[in-house]
Amino acid sequence: MFSLKGRTALITGSGQGIGFELARGLAGAGAAVILNDIDNEKLAKAAEKIRAEGATVHELGFDVTDPAAVATAVDGFEADNGPIDILVNNAGMQFRAPLEEFPIDRFDFMMRLNINSAFYVGQAVAKHMIARGGGKIVNICSVQTALARPSIAPYTASKGAMANMTKGMSTDWAKHGLQVNGLAPGYFKTELTSALVADEEFTAWLSGRTPAGRWGDVSELVGACVFLSSPAASFVNGHILYVDGGITVSL
Ligand code: NAP
Repeated sequence: MFSLKGRTALITGSGQGIGFELARGLAGAGAAVILNDIDNEKLAKAAEKIRAEGATVHELGFDVTDPAAVATAVDGFEADNGPIDILVNNAGMQFRAPLEEFPIDRFDFMMRLNINSAFYVGQAVAKHMIARGGGKIVNICSVQTALARPSIAPYTASKGAMANMTKGMSTDWAKHGLQVNGLAPGYFKTELTSALVADEEFTAWLSGRTPAGRWGDVSELVGACVFLSSPAASFVNGHILYVDGGITVSL
């Protein structure tokens, strides 16, 4: 029920961090994986690591914020290699500043990367999935899908939009056999959060605020992603699955 043998999964922004770990996890469940990143060198190194564990790994470097590049890459992969059965829209960024001073160009860039990209890649992949009558899409949301924090209002807006994009994709595409769901990580140790991990005051606050009492390890996201990508989730549509040590259920 949870096997991904014979499936191919595209994970955006998987040169490092959560995307890399999810790609590794999907490969561990039997999928061939397509790694994507904007940095081809990083992509090659990441692919080598997963290949060394015995998986089939493709490298597909493209900028997820460029709709023409996205369509060319996705259509080209499908034509040359066959179906993309699973898409994980993971690429995303953070930028912190008080909202009254938040640079407008940073806001626009963040929206393109955190939310527009899910539409660009989602649409390009879903066209093929719809023609085949099936597929899985997992959109990476966040604790900030549900809760705000000082200095990251635009990120919060983008991750709230990601959850509603998930609901919209489900509403349009469930009838074509697609399951689209969101995976919402709490606080995980990655390059994106390295400044916060190093900040002792923040780490003490986070440990007190999280019922589980600690940062998450990225390996703890894998089970949820495998579930949402697998036949086990065949009637799960538009759900946002929080993997957060309980931070969004308690005050
Ligand atoms: P990360 O370490 O910064 O990894 C993101 C990856 O995406 C990087 O390799 C980055 O490459 C790549 N990327 C950036 N722009 C791209 C583009 N235009 N096209 C293709 N790839 C691009 O971030 P992360 O912490 O793993 O986060 C991954 C996702 O999880 C994000 O959506 C984030 O919002 C979400 N999330 C993270 C946490 C957490 O605790 N870390 C919690 C909740 C949600 P470059 O480094 O070369 O730019």
